Amino acid sequence: MHTDLVAALDIGGTKIAGALVDGRGRILVRAQRPTPAQEDGETVMRAVEAVLGELHASPLWQDARAVGIGSAGPVDASAGTVSPVNVPGWRAYPLVARVRDAAGGLPVELIGDGVAITAAEHWQGAARGHDNALCMVVSTGVGGGLVLGGRLHPGPTGNAGHIGHISVDLDGDPCPCGSRGCVERIASGPNIARRALADGWRPGPDGDTSAAAVATAARAGDPVAVASFERAARALAAGIAATATLVEIDVAVIGGGVGKAGEILFAPLRKALAEYATLSFVQRLAVTPARMGTDAGLVGAAAAALAGRTDTAAMGV
Ligand SMILES: [Zn+2]
Repeated sequence: MHTDLVAALDIGGTKIAGALVDGRGRILVRAQRPTPAQEDGETVMRAVEAVLGELHASPLWQDARAVGIGSAGPVDASAGTVSPVNVPGWRAYPLVARVRDAAGGLPVELIGDGVAITAAEHWQGAARGHDNALCMVVSTGVGGGLVLGGRLHPGPTGNAGHIGHISVDLDGDPCPCGSRGCVERIASGPNIARRALADGWRPGPDGDTSAAAVATAARAGDPVAVASFERAARALAAGIAATATLVEIDVAVIGGGVGKAGEILFAPLRKALAEYATLSFVQRLAVTPARMGTDAGLVGAAAAALAGRTDTAAMGV
């Protein structure tokens, strides 16, 4: 009998992952479906129910005492609804109530995916042991979450720490969110590639124009590719410095596909951070790669379910 077993759901624009997770963060059972992101809301929900049904078929399900959901945002944890940008069929969709019904009435905790990854990094990854941390995902978009005073800080709606849509360029390009000059508009993978192409970088014979291809070119010394990563690094540094100055974090953890670019990102990031984070209380701020892998969303959702969103200090998450 597992007294501390929970079910976890990680819902994104491409896949819906589910797991039964124990109190030490170990994944015991997995299930996954592609997200029918362009279908109507009920079709998307049926994919979630299929994942839950597969977990339910495990004999371990009887020990599950809660369900944690980390969802692409925006989410509204106070209302129990989600409106993921990449899932147009879900707008103010009552996901918490629907999952509760599908899970036989178990309590359900909902957080945004950036907050889920933060919970995972704080529990078992690069932010472990830090009471004040900003964790970020830099990939197709830029998301994040905060740990403050030793506790996960999801905020009232579950979106706090969404650093991707802080403006760091007052007259910058319009952002799909409605603002302009956002961190995401400069530092996300597609925007790193977009800027490199606009400034004259050309892909190799394979035609790969992803940020990973720009990173490869930067490592080989291509000056335009290097400059695009430096600009992304400056945008991230400005956002991190602003966060640190506002709430006093001591570590910034960076994951996601762009975070895997290594020193081509982290070297200019540390340099820019020294330029932007200048006051005495933020000068010791460290920036470090994420340690949790692709299961971070599931592990973080499990952490939220184990602890309850409003009392995550109980388990040190
Ligand atoms: Zn924005």
